[in-house]
Amino acid sequence: MIPPRLARRLRSTRTWIAVGVLAPLGMLLVSGLMLLDLRRDAWDKAEQTSRNLLQVIERDIARNVEVIDLTLRAVQDNLRAPGLARLDPAMRQLVLFDRAATARDLGVMFVLDENGDVVEDAAASPPRKGNYTDRDYFQAHKANRHLGLYVGRPIVSRLTGERMVNFSRRIDKPDGSFGGLVLGSLKLSYFGRLFDQIGLGRDGAINLYLRDGTRITRHPYLEADVGVNIAGSRTFDRFAREGSGAFVETSVRDGVRRLYTFTRVGDLPLILNVALAVDEVEAGWRTKAIVIGTVVLVLCGLTVALSLLFGRELRRRAAMQAELARLSLTDALTGLPNRRRFDETFGRAVKSVGRTGKPLSLLVVDADHFKRFNDRHGHAVGDEVLRGLAHCLSASVHRPDDLVARVGGEEFALLLPDTDVEGAARIAAKVHETVATLGVASAGLAAGGVTVSVGLAVANGAGADAMDDLYRRADAALYEAKAAGRNRTSRAPSAVSRREGDKVAA
Ligand code: GH3
Ligand code: MG
Ligand code: MG
Repeated sequence: MIPPRLARRLRSTRTWIAVGVLAPLGMLLVSGLMLLDLRRDAWDKAEQTSRNLLQVIERDIARNVEVIDLTLRAVQDNLRAPGLARLDPAMRQLVLFDRAATARDLGVMFVLDENGDVVEDAAASPPRKGNYTDRDYFQAHKANRHLGLYVGRPIVSRLTGERMVNFSRRIDKPDGSFGGLVLGSLKLSYFGRLFDQIGLGRDGAINLYLRDGTRITRHPYLEADVGVNIAGSRTFDRFAREGSGAFVETSVRDGVRRLYTFTRVGDLPLILNVALAVDEVEAGWRTKAIVIGTVVLVLCGLTVALSLLFGRELRRRAAMQAELARLSLTDALTGLPNRRRFDETFGRAVKSVGRTGKPLSLLVVDADHFKRFNDRHGHAVGDEVLRGLAHCLSASVHRPDDLVARVGGEEFALLLPDTDVEGAARIAAKVHETVATLGVASAGLAAGGVTVSVGLAVANGAGADAMDDLYRRADAALYEAKAAGRNRTSRAPSAVSRREGDKVAA
């Protein structure tokens, strides 16, 4: 069973309104936290995917560059082989270049002399003609003896017209002065093939940069992106400064916000990044968020609406109950408190006599010859007179605690707390006086046509039968007034004189 306190709570409108507000708030909070969690998951997944991808690509590039570098070093060493100059050109070519020089992604492999002229060519004997003094790598090696492996800016090959990136090592003369260089190139198509299988969404990208900010290539590939220098941009500053990591930034290229995951390629002066568009990272989550959010909002709305409706119904029911309670205590004809209400109030008033010691008076008022009246003018007029009488009686009392009730057909009672016999007699006189002014115009009844008789009694104490005793004595006094000719008040004997009377009788 439900404990009574809980049952009372459940019936309270306030409880239902509180539930109606708190439950949706709770729902909103929980689903908000859940959505945040889902968003975190989407980001974690994106970061993880980017990192894995980055690692695989980085290894592949580093390995290929290493193969080229090993070949360059081999050429460097082979050039120092004794008697090389005496070999015929085809033989020299065989000695200098190993098979790696013919790998699919390799563009050209040359040895240049200190004037920039091709002196050895892995692919042709005699070597193809060309002068490369204008290239950045030539100038760089010439100016600096200690560059080691140099990665040049992406160029368009003069021999094949293909885009490629050059790797080169300097050749020192025996005295340490610049003796030219050996260079091998990697076609950009290699990167294209490497990246082609990777799906990064519509706005995702992979970029490879030189450390000076020059873009070597980009996936998806656009001719215009190659060679562009983005040094000084916020994204590149972080790539260069941090070496590897991940961050969200707006692209300088197209203004798209992306999650950049980046790393150095081996110990080469290359920076590789995988960039995923923030919109696409969150796309799946957004769809879920919209669905969940809509459902939760609709549910919250429903909950609020239902609890408001329920609250309104509870209020209505409470109002109806209050109205019923009021009606059950009110006399329908006169609008005065009825017998039930009178009995309740009477009981309380008698009890408070015992507590406060203050006098309590009761007037019982009965219309004189009312039967005759009814017979002569009809029941409807009788009712009209009763309403008039109710009005007169109500007008005869003024204290808020005084109670005027209709206790029977044409019988009324006036309960007068804190009123002694003199006070009650004054009220009774007022009653006669007021009733004397009552007329019923609709029935041609003039003032003075209606009279009442009144029985007056004052409570003796607050014992168990005090209530019955007081009413009985007032009723007896009323009987006396009737017997004495009506239109008058008769007082019940006071408690003291009654006890004396009892003694006399004994
Ligand atoms: P008295 O009290 O002076 O001795 O005479 P009475 O004619 O008033 O006597 P009684 O108390 O016997 O009659 C009461 C009459 O009041 C009975 C009934 O016809 C009438 N009456 C009672 N209740 C109503 C009512 O609600 N409406 C109307 N019109 N008459 C009522
Ligand atoms: Mg009467
Ligand atoms: Mg009567």
